[in-house]
Amino acid sequence: MFSHILIAVDGSTHSDEALVYARGMAENFGARLMLVHAYPQTSDLLGYEDFERLVSRRQAAGQEVIDAARHQLGDTATDIHENLLEGPEAEAILAAAETHGVDLIVMGTRGRGSIEGLLFGSVSRKVTHLAPCPVLLIR
Ligand code: ATP
Ligand code: MG
Repeated sequence: MFSHILIAVDGSTHSDEALVYARGMAENFGARLMLVHAYPQTSDLLGYEDFERLVSRRQAAGQEVIDAARHQLGDTATDIHENLLEGPEAEAILAAAETHGVDLIVMGTRGRGSIEGLLFGSVSRKVTHLAPCPVLLIR
């Protein structure tokens, strides 16, 4: 049913939990897994003298989120590939889903922002509304 699953990670406990489900789904369906993280947009840094260095720092922090997720996945026969993208987050996740023709997106209902009381974060809400495929929200 699913052959290519996108798991969106932001380093939060919610996304860690989503990762467990994504791994299980990929193993059960023999699907490929695409690990996606979007680092914050860098257009706000334009004009700064050390623009390049600031951008590299955001990218490196983003890669750390991917690395931690990869580490959490541990040993698995699943074919995993990484996709580090520039935000905005929902747009990046949706573009990756379309470009790579994934057939399932797995993500947390909430993330790092975690304002108490809200059911959905802005990223999970937007992706669920606009996704070209089924979305599995883990809570
Ligand atoms: P908000 O960001 O609106 O303050 P929040 O952080 O609680 O709220 P979301 O950002 O919507 O909630 O997070 C929901 C899920 O979306 C996360 O569990 C994760 O799966 C995914 N996600 C959030 N941010 C990113 C990101 N930068 N890159 C990839 N996936 C992300
Ligand atoms: Mg968030």
